[in-house]
Amino acid sequence: METVLDKLTQKNDKKLLLLVIDGIGGAPYRGKTELEAAYTPNMDRLAKSYITGVADPVAPGITPGSGPGHLALFGYDPLRYEIGRGILEALGVGLEVTPKDVAVRGNFATIDDNGIIIDRRAGRISTDLNRQLCTRIQQEIKTIDGVEIIVKPGKEHRFVLILRGDKLSDKVTETDPQKEGNPPLRCEPLVPEATHTAEVVNKFVDATRKLLNPPANFVLLRGFAKHPQLKSMRERFKLTPAGIATYPMYKGLARLVGMDILETGPELEDEIETLRKNWDNYDFFYFHIKRTDSLGEDGNWEAKVELIEKIDKLLPDILDLHPDVLVITGDHSTPAILKAHSWHPVPVLFVSPYVIPDKSEAFNERECMHGGLGRIRLLDLLPLMLAHGLKLKKYGA
Ligand code: ZN
Repeated sequence: METVLDKLTQKNDKKLLLLVIDGIGGAPYRGKTELEAAYTPNMDRLAKSYITGVADPVAPGITPGSGPGHLALFGYDPLRYEIGRGILEALGVGLEVTPKDVAVRGNFATIDDNGIIIDRRAGRISTDLNRQLCTRIQQEIKTIDGVEIIVKPGKEHRFVLILRGDKLSDKVTETDPQKEGNPPLRCEPLVPEATHTAEVVNKFVDATRKLLNPPANFVLLRGFAKHPQLKSMRERFKLTPAGIATYPMYKGLARLVGMDILETGPELEDEIETLRKNWDNYDFFYFHIKRTDSLGEDGNWEAKVELIEKIDKLLPDILDLHPDVLVITGDHSTPAILKAHSWHPVPVLFVSPYVIPDKSEAFNERECMHGGLGRIRLLDLLPLMLAHGLKLKKYGA
């Protein structure tokens, strides 16, 4: 499918807008989902006039992380391309990753005089102390055997390490034995080409040891991952894509598929202003709203409902730009009653002058289940957007 699709794409000036309300899908609480409880006259009007459906981010029953959910939205099969843990963590702390990088998840840990790990999280040291330690490491260790070393703190005991250099490999073993009472493991190559990388990793661990004191006197490394080197959306779909997002991980995901990341402020209104200002310069916009997911994970049903209402209220400002194709959906569901991502398919609202309207009366899970799009893969949305933007040539004679 992917190669066929890539061959059919053609450039035109139609504008596609993908509005991703993170974790939008919900589940009933006192009989109503968040979307059903929210007063959303604008989205409901669109649902009445156009078409809806539901989409599985990965596959029925699979609860996705935001990484796979977004890959599918961007037209990349999440079962074919995996973005490794280290890369996701690096994007999450706002590090840019390049094709020369191996990204790694790090933990500060405590080892005793016999070299045994007694606390894999170093007593969950404060984020402040973590920052100080990372600064010290970064000042003292800049390169190892020609490989650039980049260290950035996360929360509490977590940090991200990037090794940047030629011929690095992520085919190495983790140093974290995952259990206290064991000594840390040496990093070993899993393939001959990874010998150099494993040596650099072990030298890094040894070098940090001289800089660290209890309780954070050791580093454990895992989740080694190379940059996925995806073909860009420009190349694949002949789009000129831009991303508007407020959290580092989503900017990073968009950057992985070659989008320009547009500077924006923290509020929804800021993101809309950014969209307006850049409207003439691109033909594909990924517009990300994060807080619906956070509120779902907090189990804050009421606040999620209120935020959905606010999004609906601001929707006319987006519609004023007259996108040729508008899709409103999520990267996965985050029902407040589960306080977590879930396997539920996401509701989809699809707006284009060429759709054959269905009988949906409103934008919510229950209506979307009966929508004319049916139940599709989230991966199928982008081809549909391209088609409705008249950006796909005929297949075959
Ligand atoms: Zn998400």
